[in-house]
Amino acid sequence: MEVQILGAHGIEAKGARLTSLLVDGVLAIDAGGLTSALSLSQQEKIKTVLLSHHHFDHTRDLITLGANAAYWQGQIVVYALQHTLDVVIPCLLDGKMYINFLEYPDREKPFLKFKTIEPYERKAIERYEVLPLPVKHSAPSVGYQVTSSDGKSLFYTGDTGPELSHCWQRVSPQLLITEVCGPNKFEDWLKGVGHLSAKLLKEELVQFKNLKGYLPRVIAIHMALPYEDEIREEVAQVAEELEADISLGYEDMKIVL
Ligand SMILES: [Zn+2]
Ligand SMILES: [Zn+2]
Repeated sequence: MEVQILGAHGIEAKGARLTSLLVDGVLAIDAGGLTSALSLSQQEKIKTVLLSHHHFDHTRDLITLGANAAYWQGQIVVYALQHTLDVVIPCLLDGKMYINFLEYPDREKPFLKFKTIEPYERKAIERYEVLPLPVKHSAPSVGYQVTSSDGKSLFYTGDTGPELSHCWQRVSPQLLITEVCGPNKFEDWLKGVGHLSAKLLKEELVQFKNLKGYLPRVIAIHMALPYEDEIREEVAQVAEELEADISLGYEDMKIVL
């Protein structure tokens, strides 16, 4: 399994794209900085997009991906919670903002097709087993465990606050991609809006290790750019304390499992 981090930030600026991952070139998870990270021929290979929640920094490139699909006449299936689709479709995709993607180019075979997922329900999607698990954020959100047929697996929390132990009970990933949105000094605020600091992440990872007896490689993304250096130092400190492989992700980073 090859995991590519297309967007590793919660803020967009030159060199920093919004959150998006790509598995084996075919399965995208979140669509913040998706199309700006890939050539058209790379975009053409995407068959599926999994959305963690409706926030703009995770969904907005559905518009550009759906419009670009006209050039290769392909169909991309977008999976999300019903709540996520209930927000994203009327806000971005039903024709008020741009094209009506429910019937573009026609209602029978639209370039973007939408399907709902249910938390805790394993689903076979392409050649993967996908398990959506609810996480605590300011909007209804799920993380995804994606497991390939050779048993390699990734768990991506999406945007999340603390209290991940119910997820840890259900996943056994080799790679954990999670978020550290801001520095420890904003811990109370981060917790309140459903995000993590390095210190909050440490508490979750201690629980993971107690429960599972190991820690996977951990990559944190969704950093607020102005605080990235501070977050990097704090995450490095946690890695040292837990004697674990924990680092910050970056745009175009590739991890092979
Ligand atoms: Zn969010
Ligand atoms: Zn976000």
